Amino acid sequence: PDEMARLLKGFVQDGFINVVGGCCGTTPDHIKAIADIVNGLSPRPLREIPVQSKYSGLEPLIIRPDSNFINIGERTNVTGSKKFAKMILDGDYDTALSVARQQVEAGAQVIDVNMDEAMLNSQEVMVRFLNLIASEPDISRVPIMIDSSKWSVIEAGLKCVQGKAIVNSISLKEGEQAFKDQAKKVKRFGAAAVVMAFDEKGQADSLERKVEISKRAYTILTEDVNFPPEDIIFDPNIFAIATGIEEHNNYAVDFIEATREIKKTLPHCRVSGGVSNVSFSFRGNNIVREAIHSVFLYHAVKAGMDMGIVNAGMIAVYDDIPKNLLALVEDVVLNKNPESTDKLIKFAENVKGEGKKIQEDLSWRKESVEKRLEHALVKGIADYVEEDTEEARQKSARPLDVIEGALMDGMNVVGDLFGAGKMFLPQVVKSARVMKKAVAYLQPFIEKDKTGNVQNYAGTLIMATVKGDVHDIGKNIVGVVLGCNNYKVIDLGVMVSSEKILKAALDEKADIIGLSGLITPSLDEMVYVAKEMKKSGMNLPLLIGGATTSINHTAVKIAPEYDYPVIYVKDASRSVGVCTSLMDKKLKDQLVEKTNTDYAKLREEFAQKHAKKKFLSIDEARKKSLQTDWSVYQPVKPSFLEVKVFDQYDLNEIQARIDWTPFFITWELKGKYPKILKDPKIGEEAKKLFHEAQQMLETIISQKLLQAKAVVGFFPANSVGDDIEIYTDDTRKNKLQTFHTIREQNEKRDAQQPYYALADFIAPKKSKVPDYIGGFAVTTGFGLDELVRKYEHDHDDYKSIMVKALADRLAEAFAEHLHERVRKEFWGYAPQENLTNEELIDCKYQGIRPAPGYPACPDHTEKPFLFDLLKVTKNTGVLLTENFAMLPASSVCGLYFSHPQSRYFWIDKICKDQVEDLAKRKNVELSYLEKWLSPILTY
Ligand code: SAH
Repeated sequence: PDEMARLLKGFVQDGFINVVGGCCGTTPDHIKAIADIVNGLSPRPLREIPVQSKYSGLEPLIIRPDSNFINIGERTNVTGSKKFAKMILDGDYDTALSVARQQVEAGAQVIDVNMDEAMLNSQEVMVRFLNLIASEPDISRVPIMIDSSKWSVIEAGLKCVQGKAIVNSISLKEGEQAFKDQAKKVKRFGAAAVVMAFDEKGQADSLERKVEISKRAYTILTEDVNFPPEDIIFDPNIFAIATGIEEHNNYAVDFIEATREIKKTLPHCRVSGGVSNVSFSFRGNNIVREAIHSVFLYHAVKAGMDMGIVNAGMIAVYDDIPKNLLALVEDVVLNKNPESTDKLIKFAENVKGEGKKIQEDLSWRKESVEKRLEHALVKGIADYVEEDTEEARQKSARPLDVIEGALMDGMNVVGDLFGAGKMFLPQVVKSARVMKKAVAYLQPFIEKDKTGNVQNYAGTLIMATVKGDVHDIGKNIVGVVLGCNNYKVIDLGVMVSSEKILKAALDEKADIIGLSGLITPSLDEMVYVAKEMKKSGMNLPLLIGGATTSINHTAVKIAPEYDYPVIYVKDASRSVGVCTSLMDKKLKDQLVEKTNTDYAKLREEFAQKHAKKKFLSIDEARKKSLQTDWSVYQPVKPSFLEVKVFDQYDLNEIQARIDWTPFFITWELKGKYPKILKDPKIGEEAKKLFHEAQQMLETIISQKLLQAKAVVGFFPANSVGDDIEIYTDDTRKNKLQTFHTIREQNEKRDAQQPYYALADFIAPKKSKVPDYIGGFAVTTGFGLDELVRKYEHDHDDYKSIMVKALADRLAEAFAEHLHERVRKEFWGYAPQENLTNEELIDCKYQGIRPAPGYPACPDHTEKPFLFDLLKVTKNTGVLLTENFAMLPASSVCGLYFSHPQSRYFWIDKICKDQVEDLAKRKNVELSYLEKWLSPILTY
């Protein structure tokens, strides 16, 4: 110690101020001696460390003032890359790792990892993949961006990464408390965070909202959470531009300006964004997309954007962009004039190829104008149609000649190809768009032309969705297909009364009337229209189509009510054949004769089958109801006994639950998804359609074009006979509502089989078991009308049909998603359930959600009770029409049953004894009930 003190004195004299030393015989005296020596010396001043954003993998990544834009690799993202998703789904982690490696090798300075896919256990997969990355130094040298919309996945990911990761993302979406909690955790993990411009009201799409939310988040983070400002990365939302919707045109500008403002006013923070979003509407056209990315980044980086999730291979070198393309893209990105989108779309459709070279395939433009029009029609290319139509008009004596000449010739080729199975419905609908544009262009000329012209249509059709029904996708498709075949189609829309249909038929001198419907009450409505046609002495052929209609119903119930042809048209592809026959005297006779014979045979078969069928009396059927042992099964009490409303549900969560198979059926492409995409015959077309659907879905979701609303409620309930009583509260003293269920009566081959009614799945009142029932209504139909109107204005049937089909899919997906949450949380009787989308579609879960009007509960007049119980109209805006269809059409409602033995069944037919009993229970006139139940009566 003496020696140490001596040395120390020397060091101090030499100017050292920090000395570290120690020795085992040190005593307090020595310490004092040392303290005396250093007494009066000032401590070392701390070196000032500049505030910098720093992230790290094995190596640090520091953003310095002179740093360039930072590329975040986007390919290791299951939502953004189908290929990557497949590898992960297949468990092919080696290849998946090589994707990460390629990203780093190609210059990604951070890699974004996202495993949010419905079919995956995202958390498990995230952990596995990050752990694998950790042992690959050439990948893990870069920081990881842990990307998920589920906080649990992020948290699991944070536990795996070394270095300083970036969380993508947190936001005010679920309010301040959740935001703070998550931010605190991110801080504890020592990570940085992307903060999305998202708040309780939704995603920010305007400049003001982007800035306002970012500022609010900044204040909360820096003041309440003490979050280092340099660890905040704002993502002010990059949305797709050039979608064709005017409000979207300014999205890139809004982002750029928001970035400028955020960087100016919020010290030390960073700005990032998902770059590929901006060019979504040009999916499939890499040349244009690359140019858009490059131009967008050029301006955004200048405004202060620090980093972005990009595919480094998908950014064109700014200076390499051909001048004409550059000018168009600059206009679109900076929203310089309202026509720029159209111009770019036009340009884009003629630019093909994958690489960075432009190959314009315009050879067809060298052909004659007739050939060009044909090509445009067959390929569905609308951008030259006006100039070509003009050229053809100048060559023709009358403007009408263009329609009846070149255009119809072209459409005939389309018709032939469709008829021969070489073209498919989606393509035909696109051809129709070209045709409509041409016709719209010619219209003013035709009106001016005095040479007396009435277009030679192949025939005139009145089409309508019948009274009380709101569904029209199938009808629209038939209209388009017939329109392509030179029929004048007058579509009266939905919910059309019989008077209106008959009047239009007379006014328009129609040749044929077509009726469509989806819900069962429409069947009866069609019978009514047929009767009215007969009463008024009409002789026009009547076509019947739509989801609940059938050849049997047409033959048995409708045709006998009318003396002229009534023909069931199974799908759009048959409509042309039927109409062509009906418009030709000879063919018509043949068709009518054949239909008459076929239908007579069907009626006979029906009568025979019917005579053979045996039915139990309702008393016997009740004796054979499902026997459940309520002493062994204790129903779970729902977590709330009231009505819960969801006003703006996140479409992103809903979309994962879409069942795509019915989507393809809508477009008359039959096959199960995803196998259909690989079908040797229709796979190619299915893939294209699917891709375009995805694209539109993306836009719908990112721009919130449709609103998802729902109401869910749970109530104490017990069964009394075939009724289900619903009580105001768990004391079960006061009845709130009663549902009247219908029991199967047709004799079953297997004597052991129970005769079901939905009431069997609820504990009987006398068992004293406290049971419960749930109800729901969901809609994704608000916003749809505006979109449809816009597309129709643009003569774009393809998009109009597409958006309706997607809205319908989303409604079903919403019902599926909500049901899952009901089982796992709201009712909570199956908290551990973990099923894939396919398993959900196959109803592999416990419980059912029967929908009134469907086979287990075919009585539509019960729907108002459900609506009343849940105050559906007040809570969601969904209405019931006079025939109990829900409006908007993209809506679903139903009841929830939780009993493990509950299942869907099929009420085939019921006898008068049950109808009489039911009328008494419901306190309604027998005749009223008979009208509504007519499709299921045995008599
Ligand atoms: N995945 C499909 C689901 C729709 S049909 C889609 O996206 O189109 C399935 C729903 O129809 C069920 O959940 C139920 O609400 C209803 N359903 C089906 N069969 C039924 C039956 N026999 N009785 C009552 N409702 C039924």
